[in-house]
Amino acid sequence: MDLSIVVPLFNEEESIKELYNWIQRVVSPLNWSYEVIFVDDGSTDASWQVIEGLRQESAYVKGIRFRRNYGKSAGLYCGFDAAQGDVVITMDADLQDSPEEIPELVRMVKEEGYDIVSGWKKKRYDPLGKTLPSKLFNRTVRMVSGIKLHDFNCGLKAYKLDVVKNIEVYGEMHRYIPLIAKQAGFSRIGEKVVQHQERKYGVSKFGIERTIKGFLDLLSVTFISKFGKRPMHLFGALGTLMFVVGFLSALWLGLSKLLSVFYYHIAAPLVTNSPYFYIALASMIIGTQLFMAGFLAELVSRNGHDRNNYQISERID
Ligand code: UDP
Ligand code: MG
Repeated sequence: MDLSIVVPLFNEEESIKELYNWIQRVVSPLNWSYEVIFVDDGSTDASWQVIEGLRQESAYVKGIRFRRNYGKSAGLYCGFDAAQGDVVITMDADLQDSPEEIPELVRMVKEEGYDIVSGWKKKRYDPLGKTLPSKLFNRTVRMVSGIKLHDFNCGLKAYKLDVVKNIEVYGEMHRYIPLIAKQAGFSRIGEKVVQHQERKYGVSKFGIERTIKGFLDLLSVTFISKFGKRPMHLFGALGTLMFVVGFLSALWLGLSKLLSVFYYHIAAPLVTNSPYFYIALASMIIGTQLFMAGFLAELVSRNGHDRNNYQISERID
């Protein structure tokens, strides 16, 4: 198959049919074999019925329906899992991303050899409350990741099939797919300026809390890639360092006591009068704690395999 289009959606009943018709208008003249995978992320409106209706009319339509709302990342994960096309395109269901971009995105992946081409909504039609945090967000991620993209969170992206089969998107990590892909060894990441529209129907499914969650996820994603498989390297090292500091303080405390008794022949002061006593105490306790945390993290990281486990109630293949 040439192309898979993955569309995660949550309560977008008004948009789905219009989006599908638009995709068809663009893609069918190209004579490619393709599929459009709608992942219904636990919608409570008629979204799934609309998808079923579309499938009646067109065999290109596929659907996955979650029993409840898991979030966009979960939708993408299951869409990626089902995708079969050599090139996989993701787009939002709300008609903000334009299907007109599809042919050029596919060409960039196929002919220019990119692993990922990310859309860049250079001219955005979103409220200021969204575009401003987004600028800050993108700047931070650019700095942390070293990937020169302007718009990490753009829903419209194209991937080589290999990429989507070898990365794991979970939690709210859809914002960091280029980062996750780079960590997995896919380094040819390109960018294309894409058309953007105002949301036509319904409302945004993400609130302001996305900014906070986004930054916390950035910490996780960089931390996990560095230490996820070897947490002991971080906690163990810090713990040992703290312990050594504590031990040296205790040693100094003992030595100074011996010195005052046997060398200066004065009555030794109480150890609790010395600041070193408290440093030794605190450092050794914190050091041991860090060490234990590292050890536990190490045990946990060896057992966490049920992260992407979703309840799917219906499926159209
Ligand atoms: N979405 C989803 N699950 C969710 C939230 C959103 O599948 O829990 C979908 C949503 O239906 C849309 C896409 O993710 O197709 C982007 O969401 P939205 O347009 O609300 O985000 P924004 O454009 O405000 O960033
Ligand atoms: Mg949108």
